[in-house]
Amino acid sequence: MRKKDLEKFRKFLTGERNRILQHAIRMADQNVTIDSNDVPDIVDLATSDLSLNLNVEIRERERHLLSKIDTVLAKIDDGSFGICDECGEAIGSGRLQARPVTTLCIKCKEEEEEQEKRGGARREPEDLRFPLKPIVNDN
Ligand SMILES: [Zn+2]
Repeated sequence: MRKKDLEKFRKFLTGERNRILQHAIRMADQNVTIDSNDVPDIVDLATSDLSLNLNVEIRERERHLLSKIDTVLAKIDDGSFGICDECGEAIGSGRLQARPVTTLCIKCKEEEEEQEKRGGARREPEDLRFPLKPIVNDN
């Protein structure tokens, strides 16, 4: 991957990381209900169960997303960003654009999902994609 692209991902991920942290801090500070403009998909999820669990749930998701971002930022640093953890092949750039925090190529991801289906293990869906905004267009 070109340095320019790497830097773009780094910038994006660092920005998202800051946003999540700031959001978490704001939540912790005020212990408030969620601004629906801020996290629409989470609020949708929770409309039927707007309870104490909500804050916990969001923190859980944020925490998870943060750890993914940290993992991927470390990969950018050590040069393994965009390489599948499983098979070592390059992850498609379209996939990286859509899900910058992914560490598996589409093939390995599908295999993993297949295995989960067979094994009945319930894992977190990969759908912790950035809810906030799509990655900036190339230019
Ligand atoms: Zn792979």
